Amino acid sequence: MEQLRLSPSRMNDFTNCPQLYKYRAIDLLPEPPSIEAERGKLIHSVLEDIFELPAPDRTLTTAIDLLPPAWAEQIEKTPELASLVLDEKEWIDRAHSLLSNYFALENPTTFESTYRELHLERDISDEIYLHGYVDRLDVAPTGEVRIVDYKSGKSPKPGWEEKAFFQLRVYALLYWKNHGVLPRMLKLIYLGDVKTIESQPTEAQLLSTEKKLADIGDEILSAIESNDFPTRKSKLCDWCFFKAICPAHVK
Ligand code: SF4
Repeated sequence: MEQLRLSPSRMNDFTNCPQLYKYRAIDLLPEPPSIEAERGKLIHSVLEDIFELPAPDRTLTTAIDLLPPAWAEQIEKTPELASLVLDEKEWIDRAHSLLSNYFALENPTTFESTYRELHLERDISDEIYLHGYVDRLDVAPTGEVRIVDYKSGKSPKPGWEEKAFFQLRVYALLYWKNHGVLPRMLKLIYLGDVKTIESQPTEAQLLSTEKKLADIGDEILSAIESNDFPTRKSKLCDWCFFKAICPAHVK
C-alpha cells in the first residue's frame, strides 16, 4: 500500500465522519467553493502580504488597500465565486471589518513574523506521512517560537478550546520533531468575535498528540483495507456538500 498522506484537516474529517473522509480523500469528489472558506482565504492572503512590508507600513489602512488586488486575484483563480458573492460591496465591507478586528488584537508594526504559510511535513511511521501549512510562525530574537492561526469565524464555546488546539498541536509536534525546538506558544486568533486563545504546549501534550495521530492513522489504514467508512450523522451534516448522496440521508 502507498504511504498514507494526512493533514490535520483530513484527520478531523475522519474523526467527524469516516464517510466524509472517504468522499474527500479517497474518492476525491469535487466540492464547490464555500463562501466562508473563501472569505477566510481572502483575509489570510492580506495578512500574509502585510508581513512582507516594512514594519511601519503594516497598518489597517495598508491592509484595506491590499484587499482589492487580493480579491481580484482570488476571483481570477476561482471564477465560480462570482455567482456566490452576490453583493460585492457587502463582501468587501465584511472583509474590512474582519481586518479591522485583526488590528484590534495584534499590532504587526511591533514584531517580525519569520514564516507565513510554512509547510511542515514528516513521516510519522513507514505507512503515514503528515503535513500541513502553518498560517504564521514567529521566532523571537530569544529563539522562542510562536505558532499562529487566523480564523475568520468565532471562538469556540467554553469547553471546546482543547479540540480547537488540535491542529496547532500537530504543527507544534512537527516543528519540534523537525527542528528540536518545542514551540513556546500556540495562538488562535478569532476575527469573527475579536478574541484570541493561547496555549503553552508541553512535551507531554505533544507526545499525547503524536499518539493520537498514530491511532487515527491506524484507524484510517484499517478503514481503507476493509473499505469500511461508516457514516456519522451530526450537526455537521447540515453543512456537508455530500448530504445529497450520503447513505445516511438518502434512503
Ligand atoms: S452528510 Fe453527514 S453522515 Fe453523510 S458524509 Fe456528510 S457528514 Fe457524514
